[in-house]
Amino acid sequence: MGAVIFICDGLGDRPATRHGHRTPLQAAHKPNFDRFATEGVGGIMDIIAPGIRPGSDVAHLSLLGYDPYEVYTGRGPIEAAGVGLELKPGDIAFRCNFATVDSNKALIDRRAGRIKKGTTQLARSLNMDLMDTQIICKEGTEHRAVLVLRGSGLSAAVSDVDPHRDHVPVGAAVPLEPTKEARHTADVLNAFVDQAHKILGNHEVNAQRVREGKPPANIILPRGAGVTPQIEPLSSKYGLRAACVAGVGMVKGVCTLAGMDVLDVEGATGGLDTDIGAKVKAMNKALDTYDLVLVNVKAPDLCGHDHDFEGKVKVIERIDGALRDALPQDRWIALTADHSTPVDVGDHTGDPVPLVIRGPGVRTDNVVRYDECSLATGGLGRIRGRDLMLILLDLMGVAKKFGA
Ligand code: ZN
Ligand code: ZN
Repeated sequence: MGAVIFICDGLGDRPATRHGHRTPLQAAHKPNFDRFATEGVGGIMDIIAPGIRPGSDVAHLSLLGYDPYEVYTGRGPIEAAGVGLELKPGDIAFRCNFATVDSNKALIDRRAGRIKKGTTQLARSLNMDLMDTQIICKEGTEHRAVLVLRGSGLSAAVSDVDPHRDHVPVGAAVPLEPTKEARHTADVLNAFVDQAHKILGNHEVNAQRVREGKPPANIILPRGAGVTPQIEPLSSKYGLRAACVAGVGMVKGVCTLAGMDVLDVEGATGGLDTDIGAKVKAMNKALDTYDLVLVNVKAPDLCGHDHDFEGKVKVIERIDGALRDALPQDRWIALTADHSTPVDVGDHTGDPVPLVIRGPGVRTDNVVRYDECSLATGGLGRIRGRDLMLILLDLMGVAKKFGA
């Protein structure tokens, strides 16, 4: 046994109008992708359902076999799990930015000059008990942080404090439903943001930033409230020991919530600078210990958002180079994407994503090219994201029989 779900984030695309109506996959030189297509069985996959535009978080849940409509409770808890906070049932989690406001609490910089140093100390100074609620704050990458409210009588039905743009006053959270839990949570959140503004305004990290002419991170802006989701771990759902190799906190968060081990890989980032070769090495090694390894490479999605056709082609060719040494033939690999991020659109679309499964027992088809159009003629046909885990479990010989 032993399977890999290799996710090239945002890989799927549409024919690019200024590039000969080809997709980046059709334009790239990628002998290893094509070899997988030749040796495996191909298809296309609607991550949720035809025409539904998935975020990366719900897409990864779906690829792991969960129904996101059932388990997804918002981005906050996923980010919190992604930075290593242990969540408890009933916890309300938020994503946050450290930001800069002027003396009238009008927002000057939503990212506090993309602060890099000192956020650990800043976040630590904001842990407190307030109105019978435990407040836990932890830094993320750069200006990002997460916030967890723990206590009784809380609700995720509160609006963002973050106004999402500069040069407007920072408002207050309001309840989004007429319950006393939502009212109480908004009150706690507003009291916390006020308190945090006072603490951060006097913090040594910010005094130093002001001396250096940098904007102080003198406020914290929560958004995206969500209650801890109830997700059955893969170990009990399928009896699988599973791990993930990823640079992006959000992917680590989804995998943590699914009970997977998050492997530390040096050089693995969520950016264009990521060491894809190191990820592939870590993946191969993890197969000694784990039944399922999920790998995420974020870079194609970043190029899609940036409308960068050449960049996306280059990233595909870099992944292809790293895949040369991937995986012995006696293991299964699903080489796919979590959604399409077409360069002409610059955002996620509902287009189905390319998929190849290679490994023992697959019914090889006639497809020899790994791209959106060639794979549409493959032996897997058109499946849903949630079908992928079931197909892999069946190939690995661990699927439960339906009936006698
Ligand atoms: Zn994605
Ligand atoms: Zn994206």
